[in-house]
Amino acid sequence: MSEIKCVGILTSGGDSPGMNAAIRAVTRAAIYNGFEVMGIMRGYKGLVTDEIIPFKTQNVSNIIQQGGTILKTARCKEFMTPEGRQQAYDNMQKHGIDALVVIGGDGSLTGARIFASEFNIPIVGLPGTIDNDLYGTDTTIGYDTALNTIMDAVDKIRDTATSHERLFFIEVMGRNAGFLALNGAIATGAEAAIIPEIATEVDQLAELIENGFRKSKNSSIVLVAESELTGGAMGLSERVKKEFPEYDVRVTILGHIQRGGSPSAADRILASRMGEASINALLEGQRNIMVGIQNDELVYVPFTKAIRNDKPINRDLLNTIKILSI
Ligand code: ADP
Repeated sequence: MSEIKCVGILTSGGDSPGMNAAIRAVTRAAIYNGFEVMGIMRGYKGLVTDEIIPFKTQNVSNIIQQGGTILKTARCKEFMTPEGRQQAYDNMQKHGIDALVVIGGDGSLTGARIFASEFNIPIVGLPGTIDNDLYGTDTTIGYDTALNTIMDAVDKIRDTATSHERLFFIEVMGRNAGFLALNGAIATGAEAAIIPEIATEVDQLAELIENGFRKSKNSSIVLVAESELTGGAMGLSERVKKEFPEYDVRVTILGHIQRGGSPSAADRILASRMGEASINALLEGQRNIMVGIQNDELVYVPFTKAIRNDKPINRDLLNTIKILSI
C-alpha cells in the first residue's frame, strides 16, 4: 500500500517538446488515483526557493500540444550542495509533498538520485530530453519532435546545397550522443553522420573524404553531432579548408530551434504513457527509477543505470547511410 498523499512534479535542465504532455499526464493520473499534486516551478530551483503551487486538473488543460514547459525549467547550482538539497527537502515537508516526479535529462536524474539517497523520498524520473542519451530506454520525450525539426531544416538547406554544389556541415544537438545526427542523416538522405561514439576510433572526416563524395552528386550534406569529440561543424569545416581546400564548405548550426515546437504525435503518446506510468510506479512502491520504454513496453530503470552515459548506438546505421548515399 502506498503511503503517498501528495506528489510534486518538476521539469529540470534542458526543455524538450512533450514535457507539457508529460506534466498533464502525471497530474491527471495522480489526481485520478486520489493524490494531491503540487507543481514545482523552475526545476530544483523552485524546490529550494519555495515556488510551489497546488495543481488541479484545470492547470494542465490545453497544454498537450504546447512545446516548452508550463512549469518552466532552470539549472540550479544550490541543488548541487547538501545545504541546497536540505532546503529543498524542508520545503517539500512544508507543503506535505511526499513523492516527486522529475522530468528531465541526465543531469536532472543525477540530481534526483543524489537527493533520494540523502532523504527518504520516493522519486520517479521521466526521460525528458531531445538527446535520447538516457540508458535503458529506446527513446526519450522530445527526441522524435527534434528529429522531425532537423529533417524539415535539412530539407530546406538541401535546396541551397544542391543549387550551389556545396558541402554542408549541419550541426545538430545531442550533447555527447549521436542519435539525432545518425537518424537525422538517414531521414534526410544525408551523405554521412559524424558522431561522438566512434570519434576516438576513426577519423570520420578523413574517411569521408577518402571515400570521395560521389561524382554523380552535386552536393553533400553531412550531419555532425555537437561535441568536443567530433569537433562540431565549425571544427570540421576548419579542417576541410586547411586539408581539402578544393571543397566549397558551409556550416549551419541548427541550435535551439531543435528544442522548440509542438510535440509530434509520437512524443505526445510517449509522454502520456510515461506520465501515467510514473504514478503507477509510485502506487506499486517503486522508487528511484526512471520510466523507460523498450520494444513498446514500459519498464523501470534504476537511476544509476539510466545515467550511465554510455547508451549504445546502432552502428549498423552508419553503414546504412553509406550504402544509401552512393
Ligand atoms: P539535464 O537534466 O538536461 O541533463 P543539467 O545537466 O543542466 O540538465 O541538470 C539540471 C539540474 O540538475 C542542474 O542544474 C542541477 O540542479 C541538477 N543536477 C545536475 N547534476 C547534479 C548533481 N551532480 N548533484 C545535484 N544536482 C544535480
